[in-house]
Amino acid sequence: MRDTRLPAKRGACALILCALAAAPAASGQSSGGGGVYVATPKVSKVACLRKCASKQRARGGSVLKIVGTELAGVNALTYLGSYGSGDDATVKVRAGSDHRLNARVPIGAVTGPIALATASGGRSAPTKPVLILPPPPPEPNAELSPAPGPRVNGAPRLETGTSRTKAFVGARPGVTFSFRLSGASAAALKVELVSAADGVALKTWTPQEVAPDQVQSISWDGRLGRAAAKPGRYSFRLTAASADGAEARNSQAGDIDRDSFDLYDNIFPIRGRHDFGGGGAEFGAGRAGHIHQGQDVFARCGTRMVAARGGRVKFKQYHAAAGHYIVIDGAGTDIDYAYMHLDQPSPFAEGDRVYTGQTIGAVGDSGNAEGCHLHFELWSAPGWYDGGKPFDPLPSLTAWDSWS
Ligand SMILES: [Zn+2]
Repeated sequence: MRDTRLPAKRGACALILCALAAAPAASGQSSGGGGVYVATPKVSKVACLRKCASKQRARGGSVLKIVGTELAGVNALTYLGSYGSGDDATVKVRAGSDHRLNARVPIGAVTGPIALATASGGRSAPTKPVLILPPPPPEPNAELSPAPGPRVNGAPRLETGTSRTKAFVGARPGVTFSFRLSGASAAALKVELVSAADGVALKTWTPQEVAPDQVQSISWDGRLGRAAAKPGRYSFRLTAASADGAEARNSQAGDIDRDSFDLYDNIFPIRGRHDFGGGGAEFGAGRAGHIHQGQDVFARCGTRMVAARGGRVKFKQYHAAAGHYIVIDGAGTDIDYAYMHLDQPSPFAEGDRVYTGQTIGAVGDSGNAEGCHLHFELWSAPGWYDGGKPFDPLPSLTAWDSWS
């Protein structure tokens, strides 16, 4: 990640090439031992079979056809995504034969190589990248509307609404689920937050029943306790039962659209047109007497700047080189976020709580800056000039830019 020889604008392809470049070494190691024979599955072809964008392009919910050898013992398939394991997604599979198996593409899987594993520890080499388009965004239903889910006779009628289809960890307001019952009153109410990736309910609310026709709401800020929930698609699932047990639900099982939203871990900090400049703007670029410790992002003077991730303000100061700057300890992360050359001092003070997406200032050229830009740094734990180290923020910025 600190390779300064890479071009300024690195796309997903470059990252995937990195992953592939690592592959031969790994498979060479496993086959170089000799002696005990462990069946090693090998993939020769991958094609999208059902619910595809096209034969070569899958999306969450598609089914892939995988052709190869030694597939009989395969029981798991991992979508490796881009570098790092944060976006890996594994599904259970069962081979139809030694030469073929079908596998579901989970909703959270992203473009990247795939790899197979057997129960006895055999692993295939990662394949070439499989193109996986993101699933279409969830259907917006911000206003209450009749819920399409199953309803037994005698159960309450449900109307539901979800305030947004895109949410950010640590933002305020979070995502709000509202509902109203009519007809029968409910003796029991349950709202679950379900991860579309695996159907698991990660959080449950049991609201008090109220008289029919009253609107009730539940809000969530993307956190589970103190930890941030994993990015991905989530759905609110409401179950309402009448006194004699007749149940109604807001959606069918497996519906990833109704009362659903996509959760992201960071928002792009500049809310306007911007670019990442040339080589001199990169992390690691040479500077008089030091190395550039961040990524410059150019935008018009005065463009609104927000906290990519909320947290606690660690520093808010003026420095001859950095100009007006602010450093935020990202909530639920080990990372410090530094924003420099603001046109004015940020309205936040040291110690203040900031929410993801909250305005922290505007792009400027205070301090030693040529042209208005944000100088952005990310620091590992324990933090900014506190034992941590700056690392290249461009891959993160590029990813945030793609969804926000
Ligand atoms: Zn800079």
